[in-house]
Amino acid sequence: MNLHEYEAKALLKEFGAPTANGHVATTPDEAAEAVKHLDTGTYVVKAQIHAGGRGKGGGVKLVKTVDEIRSEADRMLGMTLVTPQTGPEGRLVRKVYVEEGSPIARELYLSMLVDRADGRVAFVASTEGGMDIETVAAETPEKILTFSVDPASGLQPFHGRKVAAALKLEGDLAKQCGKLIAALYKLFLAKDCSLIEINPLVVTEDDQLRCLDAKMSFDDNALFRHKDIAELRDIHEEDPAEVEASKYDLSYVKLDGDIGCMVNGAGLAMSTMDIIKLYGREPANFLDVGGGATKEKVTEAFKIILSDENVKGILVNIFGGIMRCDVIAEGIIAAAKETNIGVPLVVRLEGTNVEKGKELLAGSGLDIIAADDLEDAAKKIVAAVEGK
Ligand code: GDP
Ligand code: MN
Repeated sequence: MNLHEYEAKALLKEFGAPTANGHVATTPDEAAEAVKHLDTGTYVVKAQIHAGGRGKGGGVKLVKTVDEIRSEADRMLGMTLVTPQTGPEGRLVRKVYVEEGSPIARELYLSMLVDRADGRVAFVASTEGGMDIETVAAETPEKILTFSVDPASGLQPFHGRKVAAALKLEGDLAKQCGKLIAALYKLFLAKDCSLIEINPLVVTEDDQLRCLDAKMSFDDNALFRHKDIAELRDIHEEDPAEVEASKYDLSYVKLDGDIGCMVNGAGLAMSTMDIIKLYGREPANFLDVGGGATKEKVTEAFKIILSDENVKGILVNIFGGIMRCDVIAEGIIAAAKETNIGVPLVVRLEGTNVEKGKELLAGSGLDIIAADDLEDAAKKIVAAVEGK
């Protein structure tokens, strides 16, 4: 789960990391009102969407007067902001954040994430702030410092000094850096974060470190113990089909291809996607109905796949272990009654109660292409979609 910048900054502030003062607004008047609580000659109006690169798309504007705040807020609110990270469809801006403008001397990069390879919390720091870290990594990898923290000893003062040296921060700024690193580490652990990215972290003209932007993600599996964070979930920022899927406990991720997949088990789902690609097409989604799916769950899974207009064919690939093939067959039949499938459907069933499942499908009168194994199934769905 992700947060908006203004929410992430509130958390940063709570844990003692330096941010500018700001107020969130949903109308131009509210945005103008924010000035009363801010104490600078310049302000920044920032579109709040769950994607970066807003500056490049016109979603971050530096202004000097209340009138400008109002007009920028008016322009941004309700606009579909397209940035390098939103995809061509962009995101609807529903909130803006009005912040005290910061006089910037240097822009730096600082982030934290879980390094899955060594199972530790890692820091990434670079002098190249305000840029895509992927670009920096590709072009000037020597400008990036990464290290992870041993959980047994925890964060130590030398970690802060290491980051300060990499960011070329000296004297009091190095001290501020140490404090910031400690605050971020505490926040990261306390809230079960999976990512905190401060890009840019800036040095102001009066030598203060400040988190100018903030992106924060949390481990979904730990959200049950962070009600305060879970409440901040903004479903407008999520794919509607994924929101629907999460209600039924289905693991669904929309992709760009045209073959819808319904599979049980993440590993089988991955190999199904791979084999579709091998035979020349792209999967429309990843969908794992899980081990103990019910008829209702399967029906919903079908509806979700069919709600994607790109879907030209569906491949159902089930290995019945805990999941019984006849339950899947019942789900398919029920879904077909409730919705018009209208695209070729290839079904490959194997495992527990497979004969019963196949019988149900054969007797259902549905137009189903039966497949014997994974390869056969992939070939058949690709051929059907291509009209062969
Ligand atoms: P992003 O484009 O979505 O990553 O949004 P950011 O919050 O990172 O802002 C983009 C850029 O706008 C930053 O890299 C800065 O160069 C600039 N910017 C943002 N806030 C301020 C500010 O308070 N003062 C100044 N001078 N520039 C700012
Ligand atoms: Mn940024």
